[in-house]
Amino acid sequence: MILGSGSAWDTACVQLANAARHLGLDDGLHELLRTPRRSITVSVPLLRDDGQMMVLTGYRVQHNLARGPGKGGIRYHPSTDLDEVKALAMWMTWKCALMGIPYGGAKGGIAVEPGMLSRQERERMTRRYAAELVPLIGPEKDIPAPDVGTDEQTMAWIMDTYSTHTGHTATGVVTGKPLSIGGSAGRAGATSRGVQLALFAALRQTGRDPHATTVAIQGFGKVGALAAQYLHDAGCKVVAVSDVKGGVHNPQGLNPAALIRYLADGAETVVGFPATDTITNDDLLELDVDVLVPAALEGVITVENADRIRASIIVEGANGPVTAEADRILDDRGVLIVPDILANGGGVAVSYFEWVQDIQAYFWSEDEVNDRLRALMERAYGEVAMLATTQGISMRGAAHIIGVSRVAEAHRTRGLYP
Ligand code: NAD
Repeated sequence: MILGSGSAWDTACVQLANAARHLGLDDGLHELLRTPRRSITVSVPLLRDDGQMMVLTGYRVQHNLARGPGKGGIRYHPSTDLDEVKALAMWMTWKCALMGIPYGGAKGGIAVEPGMLSRQERERMTRRYAAELVPLIGPEKDIPAPDVGTDEQTMAWIMDTYSTHTGHTATGVVTGKPLSIGGSAGRAGATSRGVQLALFAALRQTGRDPHATTVAIQGFGKVGALAAQYLHDAGCKVVAVSDVKGGVHNPQGLNPAALIRYLADGAETVVGFPATDTITNDDLLELDVDVLVPAALEGVITVENADRIRASIIVEGANGPVTAEADRILDDRGVLIVPDILANGGGVAVSYFEWVQDIQAYFWSEDEVNDRLRALMERAYGEVAMLATTQGISMRGAAHIIGVSRVAEAHRTRGLYP
């Protein structure tokens, strides 16, 4: 997917190359770390409600399995393609290593606009795609989770399809499931809670008061909406949010809980929410705020708009929202970027907790989950900030160096088969 001046795959490869150079990795190991271990493309024939058949294309990439089973979300979006899925899978590899979670990295998706399908069509599409993946996924092989355009119901259908094919109920094959079938307390809000913890660590690091901090959030989905609510509840002023149809702005601050209710009551977009001005997604990115949280898609901050970003802190709720070139511009300008593989690592942290609970068939309280999430986020943030400070490099550079070095170490320790 080409967005702005660099595709997600290009950005991911530049980030890996920078870390490999810093770590002095030899060319062979660098290439091993860049190359996905398995990439599959599947056709997903779908019978529409009107009796017509359409054939969609689905993907699953297992980027690296050196530290454990593959882990990563499944995305339903029209511009999903193999290169995008490869990039997202690579970022999952570094994220799991950085968060200290015993997983490799994977990702999947179907090139489709899920909004054009009925619930029954989404179920048939999901089950057919899951059936194609049965030989590849499993609690010890590769564990999908929700991402853009998918939700806990999608995970329930995948879990049921996999379980039916294997002949036993396998709750641990997916995470982000409903509580009734082995989901974890705290998973639904985990990525957003992690974004809040990462931002508060950055505010402490830069000596800022959360109560004097204004925030704009792009994307009001699973990550963005609850991030808005948690940041508002913790004292920040959330002045703008957006979705695919546009954004809303109120310099006095928005009430995210009321906005979430507004959507739950049937509104199709945040645009039109009372007492707000309508803005575009481009306007939102360039607002005069302290903190920008991109929480939609990759490649939204590019060479085209990097100079116009006015926030001094960017917390990447989305994966890959800043292209490699834009990253250099923002870094030169002294913008503090809390990178995706750290800032949104709360989601995979609680997915890991969910998998551990499923394997043990013993479930934790929400407080226990949130306490453990806080511990993992603060440890990872501390490690990244320490390396960035001592080496005089960006937080993104430090996060990738830590993630890549742990995966490289796993390869060296395991050795090369045969
Ligand atoms: P979602 O589908 O729940 O929400 C996506 C939001 O982005 C929606 O509000 C949608 O309207 C908006 N959007 C879509 N296209 C857009 C566009 N072109 N411009 C502006 N807004 C647009 O997805 P999500 O799960 O919240 O994921 C958002 C981001 O966070 C993705 O990059 C995803 O990979 C990342 N992420 C998600 C999780 C998770 O647990 N869900 C974990 C880690 C990272």
